[in-house]
Amino acid sequence: MTSKLTPGQRLFAIVEQGLCIGCGLCQSVAGEDRVRVTKTSSGYLHPVIEGELDHDTVDRIYEVCPGTRIEGLPQRLVEPDTRHDNVWGPWRRMVRAWAGDPEIRFEGSTGGVLTALGQYLLTSGRVEFILQVKTSAAEPSFGDPTLSFTEADVFEAAGSRYGPAAALTDIGAALDRGQPFAFIAKPCDVSALRNYARQDDRVDQLVRYMLVMVCGGFGTPQGTINFYQRVGIDPERVTGLRYRGRGCPGPTRVETGDEAQEFHYIDYWGEDETTWSLPFRCKICPDGIGEAADIAAADTWIGGGPNRVDSVDDPGTNALIARTRAGEELIAAAAEAGALTLEYDIPPDTMSLYQPHQVNKKYAVWARHQGLRDAGRIVPHTERLRIEELAQDLPEETNAFQRNGTRRRIEIGKATEPTPEASKS
Ligand SMILES: Cc1cc2nc3c(=O)[nH]c(=O)nc-3n(C[C@H](O)[C@H](O)[C@H](O)COP(=O)(O)OP(=O)(O)OC[C@H]3O[C@@H](n4cnc5c(N)ncnc54)[C@H](O)[C@@H]3O)c2cc1C
Ligand code: SF4
Ligand code: SF4
Repeated sequence: MTSKLTPGQRLFAIVEQGLCIGCGLCQSVAGEDRVRVTKTSSGYLHPVIEGELDHDTVDRIYEVCPGTRIEGLPQRLVEPDTRHDNVWGPWRRMVRAWAGDPEIRFEGSTGGVLTALGQYLLTSGRVEFILQVKTSAAEPSFGDPTLSFTEADVFEAAGSRYGPAAALTDIGAALDRGQPFAFIAKPCDVSALRNYARQDDRVDQLVRYMLVMVCGGFGTPQGTINFYQRVGIDPERVTGLRYRGRGCPGPTRVETGDEAQEFHYIDYWGEDETTWSLPFRCKICPDGIGEAADIAAADTWIGGGPNRVDSVDDPGTNALIARTRAGEELIAAAAEAGALTLEYDIPPDTMSLYQPHQVNKKYAVWARHQGLRDAGRIVPHTERLRIEELAQDLPEETNAFQRNGTRRRIEIGKATEPTPEASKS
């Protein structure tokens, strides 16, 4: 490819234009001696350049980066009897569920289903390990990728981490093991891995299951600092952060040395969607619902968030979407083995009641991408996500509002990140 930009400038354009979620895959594609995904001066995980980078490598990164390419479920995984919903995508079963083991249900972010499924995949011998994310050892608000080989390892990774988490920096090492494994992560991480399957055949051979949480976006580093300050904690003194889990949502627990204070999910995120502090990439996310995964797991709060009263004794109930035959079979087998408790099946309209923010974004996102185009920005390539079709159902003035809003955000610098530089802290 010919470009007036250098290879490094092209890689950094993804970051500068607010499209990098810090998944870590470019490090695996280029090699750690050339690109390293690390905490940068902006507070996010982003790529920094360590060695010589060429255009061919950057072309390969653009092909797989979830900031530049997001696709729905691979066509080969859509069966003749798979159902389709225009908002919720391909699905075979939607069901309310929780972990069969009460301890896992309690510890998990919602009802512990992802942890229960991860453990079941190991104990049933379906996979040798799970590539997932656990609390970062170095940065209390971040997640680190980890390979889980035992039920205890999977249990240790339970709970949502709302800060940056580079799930795919170790994908090369995971594939090099030559063993079947499962991947549990965010929808954009799975988009990245599905993209990477086009460059590395081992992904389709070895990654037997891809499980995600339905995802409204991760918390910005500045948003987390603002939260600490709102509740009167010096960010410099924080040694541990558990966002949720141990009930649903469970306490947001902040540790400063030997002391710990507990807050509510609402203290971190605010009262409703308008108060969420999200990276720009999440605001233009065409797939927070995990269309490319075998199973997506969600919360079941009507209206999309908990209230302080009902959440006191909530043991946690997930809504699961099985999108593939493998996902559907896994849910049934895990239930049969007692790893999951299934409550009752639900239709897509019920998912929409639980996730109104996902529905709103799915409709709005095509116009937002047009706003990127208007501003001469990189427009992520999307396929099989129906976003243009959904936008056509909206009144023209709503699409214009979304499109102009994105253009305006870009004009006032709200969609721009600094050129990445490794953080000194
Ligand atoms: C950033 C983010 C945004 C979310 N937004 C929504 C939403 O809009 N609507 C909704 O219904 N639910 C959302 N959730 C999901 C919800 O918090 C639960 O994770 C989900 O219901 C699964 O619950 P569980 O009890 O099965 O999870 P658990 O059994 O506790 O398992 C959680 C799993 O997620 C993995 N994980 C945790 N954090 C990350 C991360 N940052 N990156 C990759 N993997 C991670 C862990 O390794 C673990 O395997 C979000 C979660 C995250 C992390
Ligand atoms: S989204 Fe992932 S692949 Fe793309 S630039 Fe960021 S870290 Fe690299
Ligand atoms: S909203 Fe989309 S881009 Fe943001 S973290 Fe979730 S899946 Fe990734």
